[in-house]
Amino acid sequence: MIAINEKLDKFMAKVIAKNPSEVEFHQAVKEVVESLLPFVEENPKYNGILERMVEPERVLMFRVPWLNDKGEFVINRGFRIEMNSAIGPYKGGLRFHPTVNLGILKFLAFEQVLKNSLTTLPMGGGKGGSDFDPKGKSDNEVMKFTQSFMLELQRHIGPDTDVPAGDIGVGGREIGFMFGQYKRIRNEFTGVLTGKGLEWGGSLIRPEATGYGQVYFAAEMLKTRGMDFKGKTVVVSGSGNVAQYATQKVTQLGGRVVTMSDSAGYIYDPAGIDAEKLAYVMELKNVKRGRISEYAAKYHCEYHEGKTPWGVKCDIALPSATQNEVNEADAHMLVNNGCYCVSEGANMPSTPEAVEVFIENKILYGPGKAANAGGVATSGLEMSQNSLRLSWTREEVDQRLHNIMISIHKTCEKYGKQSDGFINYVNGANIGGFVKVAEAMLAQGLV
Ligand code: NDP
Repeated sequence: MIAINEKLDKFMAKVIAKNPSEVEFHQAVKEVVESLLPFVEENPKYNGILERMVEPERVLMFRVPWLNDKGEFVINRGFRIEMNSAIGPYKGGLRFHPTVNLGILKFLAFEQVLKNSLTTLPMGGGKGGSDFDPKGKSDNEVMKFTQSFMLELQRHIGPDTDVPAGDIGVGGREIGFMFGQYKRIRNEFTGVLTGKGLEWGGSLIRPEATGYGQVYFAAEMLKTRGMDFKGKTVVVSGSGNVAQYATQKVTQLGGRVVTMSDSAGYIYDPAGIDAEKLAYVMELKNVKRGRISEYAAKYHCEYHEGKTPWGVKCDIALPSATQNEVNEADAHMLVNNGCYCVSEGANMPSTPEAVEVFIENKILYGPGKAANAGGVATSGLEMSQNSLRLSWTREEVDQRLHNIMISIHKTCEKYGKQSDGFINYVNGANIGGFVKVAEAMLAQGLV
């Protein structure tokens, strides 16, 4: 164990020296390498692979100039991290948020490589985005920005090269504007982006996929202990794409979601956010682009400004907003209040200390790279439909998504089950995702 710890420290010292101040990237790499070093030790053919995997195949960083409604010049920074293409074209979302920087996108791209491998579909890993903040911008400004962003990005992507999708701040509207611009510049109607509208190459269930998949994964975890969602109290964070559809699926399965949040605070509705209330949230967030506090005013429930919902008593928690939103104290609160299942819709929402609390207490803890892989898996299905020029039915896509989540759970169980029967989903997801990529990298030689 000492030797492994020393190896980990040495590995991380190199990563940190080479990628200074990219703290989220360091965090993501450390969590993965911690799981993988003992496995690589037992399987020496994988020596050297991790060193290659932490180095992106390509990093693109570019200027995005655009004119706002006042006629002023605005300069944003655009990025695309092409992390690993061993098992397929780069695939991963675009994030538009003022906090976006190289370190955040490298953490997301690194996680994406393992996540995409877990889905069983042939997709490499990438991530991109911009420090552009869509909040408070008019449709016209969002269009101007996305067109300028695509003017540069288009030369680096393509249906067989790199296929971006949505993430925080990038939904149907932004994908539409970017697809239109790509088509105009390249004169090609291809599956270069996923998350498209149904009328122009999108897949049914893609908007729902991450949240639904997160809940399907939780249901598989619960099944290992003879439980399900019926009658369970569920705490959700976020009120965006992932949170909305996680809430919908929990309600369909008989659970009761009592919280949602945004970056300003959370609402607590003990009666549960049923279908009608969720429709209000969807209109509020996706059309009016308002704040979650308006829900509290409408339904006369509590609103907690500047707070996260982890102190609310629940059976199951579904973090679905952003990275590092659950810290050690939050994890203790959840466990002490009786929460026994955490399934992550967001990427890396739990800090390493919080993860330790979950594992020490042996609760069902599904890390994002396994639990939220349904989104990219359905993007993979969208790519297949685009290539075949076919559209599968809603039921067909949902069934495929469900099967993929069951298969990811099985992989985690295979690689993460300990001798005492406890499933360490962190190890399971990291090792399960790694093996396929590592084998492909070995087969393809030193590239
Ligand atoms: P959206 O932009 O639709 O929603 C994001 C939600 O999280 C909003 O409620 C937002 O509040 C809140 N949020 C964002 N940043 C912060 C912050 N710093 N602190 C507190 N709350 C915050 O994004 P998605 O729902 O698509 O993404 C949510 C998470 O799920 C992200 O971690 C993303 O990487 C992950 N994910 C998404 C996938 C997808 O298919 N969309 C696939 C896999 C993972 P506000 O409106 O105030 O900003």
